[in-house]
Amino acid sequence: LRESTTLADALRRQAAIRPDATALIFEDRVTSYAALERRATRVANGLAALGVRRHDRVGYLGRNSDLYFELLFGAARLGAVLVPLNWRLAPPEIGAIVADAGITTLFVGPGFGSVPAALDLSRSLQCIAMDGASGAWPDFAAWRDAADPADHAFPVAAEDTALQLYTSGTTGLAKGVELGHAGVMNLFRAGENGGPIGYGAGDVVLVCMPVSHVAGTNIGLAGLVGGAAVVVMAMFDPAALIDVIPRHGVTSLILVPAAILLLVQHPDCARADFRSVRQLLYGASPIAEALVEQARAVFPNAGLWHLYGLTEACGGGTFLPPALHDAALGKLRSCGKPYPGFDLRIVDPDGEPVPAGTVGEIVIRAPTVMKGYWNNPEATRNAFLPGGWLRTGDAAYRDDDGYVYVHDRVKNMIVSGGENVYPAEVENALFGHPAIAEVAVIGVPDPRWGEAVKAIVVLRSGQSASEADLIAYARQRIAGFKLPKSVDFVDALPRNATGKVLHRTLRERYWKTQDRRVS
Ligand code: ATP
Repeated sequence: LRESTTLADALRRQAAIRPDATALIFEDRVTSYAALERRATRVANGLAALGVRRHDRVGYLGRNSDLYFELLFGAARLGAVLVPLNWRLAPPEIGAIVADAGITTLFVGPGFGSVPAALDLSRSLQCIAMDGASGAWPDFAAWRDAADPADHAFPVAAEDTALQLYTSGTTGLAKGVELGHAGVMNLFRAGENGGPIGYGAGDVVLVCMPVSHVAGTNIGLAGLVGGAAVVVMAMFDPAALIDVIPRHGVTSLILVPAAILLLVQHPDCARADFRSVRQLLYGASPIAEALVEQARAVFPNAGLWHLYGLTEACGGGTFLPPALHDAALGKLRSCGKPYPGFDLRIVDPDGEPVPAGTVGEIVIRAPTVMKGYWNNPEATRNAFLPGGWLRTGDAAYRDDDGYVYVHDRVKNMIVSGGENVYPAEVENALFGHPAIAEVAVIGVPDPRWGEAVKAIVVLRSGQSASEADLIAYARQRIAGFKLPKSVDFVDALPRNATGKVLHRTLRERYWKTQDRRVS
């Protein structure tokens, strides 16, 4: 890994060292490193024959698949940029990304064959079907196997963009984040130097988060560039997870809080055998401590790693390793310290570092940081402070030992009666209530306080609780000014593909006429 500068180099090396070792497992299909290398070569040549050139964007619309990783390494070998699209988006949203990225070649997974025709595009799109089900388009496997098998050693530089991931758009319109080969490889190097995601032979890594998000793609790539066996699940499904983990002896996985919630609430979870798991990575959105404890009980042999990061830093940021997941050390609420090789500051609105204990915005300088937002120089300029510090938009403070505590998105912050309230803290205070299945907190217009804290709650089935019960429960845990002034009960919370609660969507209902906070 140390000598590899591109993803294609790294795979070449693994294929030379361990040709017969398992690289990918998807359902009943097992692919060795040698086979993955051969397929990536053919995919690169197949793409070139379709007219795809270095720096061109190639789209992937589908659930997770081993074939996605073949495509990714094939595109990487040619110097083309893979854009994995979030399949949960509606056709107009997908169409906007396809147009923004300038995608002319789209790989379409099972179940999404009707989407391309529904896209309103000015350019024509050539499609390849990952499962061959649509007779109108070439079938991926047949197309790949018919391609030239020769290794043409296409020129690819470490600075070339490997992946273009669209931010999930929880706070605004999705933007295309350009991640270079060097940036992605640097994330894995941080993993080798004590960071959270560095794998090698003997590790069995599970991809169950969507590959359109850094969490899904990175853990799979980290496994493959390191020589691990990578098990791919089409999508997160608690029942399937309960089956897949013991079947393949999975040792490492990443789950977002919403997935942990679904898992621990699944009726079969109590019978799950997750003893093979040594590493459970969690993060990507605020998590209630009670949920971390529930996860710990379900994965008895796993070290817990709390991750904080963002797409713009290739998913990197800070991590709290297992040794610090000990209540006696008092760091459980922290998301830890920066990855090896990363610099992190907490700054005031003028960009000046604030003292320990003071809340400010996290800014990061790291070898994984994006090249920029595709086609959006203004947004790119606004994303950085002088000196190359990436603005995260997240509010946090550091303790005297340098551990970082993330509150929430600055944009989610509620200003109530002049006090700043971070939804994540209130959500954390409420979540432990036995009747609550899910909770989100937002600010709503209030003539007296400017904004008032409102909790939106999904109750567990068969449970009941009143507004007054829940407010009384929170009162024992957080300051009075942070308490919800009202509670609404709903059947479900709006979430994005990675399970993040869409606070923006929740707010819209209440801010219809006073839209200042709805971006
Ligand atoms: P957009 O930027 O379009 O609104 P997004 O915020 O979902 O979308 P991502 O890059 O997927 O974009 O997520 C990064 C954000 O997720 C961080 O900026 C932070 O707000 C949140 N986040 C990540 N990890 C954690 C964590 N451990 N605790 C709290 N929040 C987290």
